[in-house]
Amino acid sequence: MLDRLLVAASDSTDPFGSIKDFFHSSTWHFVVLMFWFFLVVVWLSCAYWVFKDARRRIDDRIVIVVAVLTGLVFGPFGLFVYAILRPPEYLEDARERELELRMLELRLDGEEHCPFCKTPVKDDYLVCPHCMRRLREVCSSCHRPVEPGWRICPYCERQIPQEQTFGLEIG
Ligand SMILES: [Zn+2]
Ligand SMILES: [Zn+2]
Repeated sequence: MLDRLLVAASDSTDPFGSIKDFFHSSTWHFVVLMFWFFLVVVWLSCAYWVFKDARRRIDDRIVIVVAVLTGLVFGPFGLFVYAILRPPEYLEDARERELELRMLELRLDGEEHCPFCKTPVKDDYLVCPHCMRRLREVCSSCHRPVEPGWRICPYCERQIPQEQTFGLEIG
C-alpha cells in the first residue's frame, strides 16, 4: 500500500501542486458555491416552515416573528427548538374545541331560565323554585306540564282552559 503511494507520488513532480490546482479550479469553486447555496436554501426553508407552522398555532404576531427569526438565524437548530416550544394545538382546533365546550355548557346550563328571576329551571318545572312564580300549568286530564300559550294538551288532546295563572306567585 505504502509502496504504491510512494510510486504514485514519485510519478507526479509535485503531488501537492495538483491538490492546490484542484482548490483553485472552477470545479472547487462550483462545489463551494453549491454548498453555500444549499445552506441558504436549508436556512430559508427552516424559516419558511416555522412561519407556516407558527401562523397556524400562534395568535400573537410578535411571537410569530420571533419564531421565524429563530428559524432564520439558527436554521435546523432553531427549527428543533421551535418544535419543542411551539403550542401543541392548532389555533383552529383550539377555537373549535372552545366553541364546542361553550355549546355544551349552554346545553347543560339549559336554555331554560325563569323569565322572572333568571334562575335556571328545567323544562318540566311547574313553578320557579326561587321566586315561586308559576311557569306552567298541568293538564287537568293527564297531569303533564303544559306550556303557557298552548291551547290543547299535546299528550292527551284535552283543551286547556285559558285562565292566565302564568307568572302569578303561588302560595
Ligand atoms: Zn323565578
Ligand atoms: Zn293532557
